[in-house]
Amino acid sequence: MALGEFELIERFFTWPTPRAVLGVDDDCAVLAPTPGMQLCVSSDMLVEGRHFLSTVDPQRLGHKALAVNLSDLAACGADPLAFTLALALPRADERLAEGLAQGLFALAGRHGIELVGGDTTAGPLNLCITVIGQVPAGQALLRSGARAGDELWVSGTLGDARAALEVFRGTLEVSGEAFTALRRAMELPEPRVALGQRLRGIASSAIDVSDGLLGDLGHILRRSGVGARLDVNALPRSAVLAGLPPALQQECLLHGGDDYELLFTLPAAVAAEVGSILSPEVPLHCIGRIEAGRGVQCQRGGRAVSVPTAGYDHFA
Ligand code: ADP
Ligand code: MG
Repeated sequence: MALGEFELIERFFTWPTPRAVLGVDDDCAVLAPTPGMQLCVSSDMLVEGRHFLSTVDPQRLGHKALAVNLSDLAACGADPLAFTLALALPRADERLAEGLAQGLFALAGRHGIELVGGDTTAGPLNLCITVIGQVPAGQALLRSGARAGDELWVSGTLGDARAALEVFRGTLEVSGEAFTALRRAMELPEPRVALGQRLRGIASSAIDVSDGLLGDLGHILRRSGVGARLDVNALPRSAVLAGLPPALQQECLLHGGDDYELLFTLPAAVAAEVGSILSPEVPLHCIGRIEAGRGVQCQRGGRAVSVPTAGYDHFA
């Protein structure tokens, strides 16, 4: 049975919005930010064939579309408030819409973020979400605050999503169990929202790792006008990744996209006190140090190694 545009919106994408003044239903949503807070706004689009495979489970796709956006709020240290969803669907497919909605709202509920509007159109499957969060005025974490002497830290593990992609591409073979774990990392990233909030007033800079560690570190370094020394051996990796050939491991760790971990800098005095206790939900690792100068110097066991530094660029 084919559903109309408004039926689709009403059945699958209209949920209660107790925090918003007005949610889905009018020409605009109306929000009431807490006095004294600044808004943080970010959009990320997921396009079939480019960001996900046509075979992906709709529930996982719904999760990921919101997760990658929440990850941007996390990188700014923001408290999630509201989001909009611009959705193109090839057909008014109930199973697809219901799956997407389940994935979206399960994650939204855990982070207290409300769907307050959007747009729905026919077209190649495409999800564009805009998230709105808030931070106490002047406290948003930025890419520009890293200083020579700061320690460089990362949450979780890196590289699994890229390894999963290599399995899908047919360039890597792993056991069924290992593939399940890698695929989970690729399809169900957990945005580090609580960590980002805790880093406010503590971290000197932060970014989420979405386009590969070296590329995203490069953004911090350029915006901050500093360089960094990175210890490749210290990069945190899953047991599955640690079992892959060393050259592939290094590629996944340094250049793999879709990690959605937080990369941040801590002034050394702060790091000594809080580095290990900042985050009960996810392990944190010190992976290097900010230095005067430019660019990244990669080291392995104290010896310099040379690696290309470009991150992912859709038009390169
Ligand atoms: P307009 O014609 O003003 O663009 P629409 O008819 O497109 O409004 O949308 C009607 C209402 O439904 C609006 O409140 C809009 O924000 C909301 N909406 C449309 N698509 C979605 C969606 N995918 N998710 C949530 N809300 C949506
Ligand atoms: Mg519209």
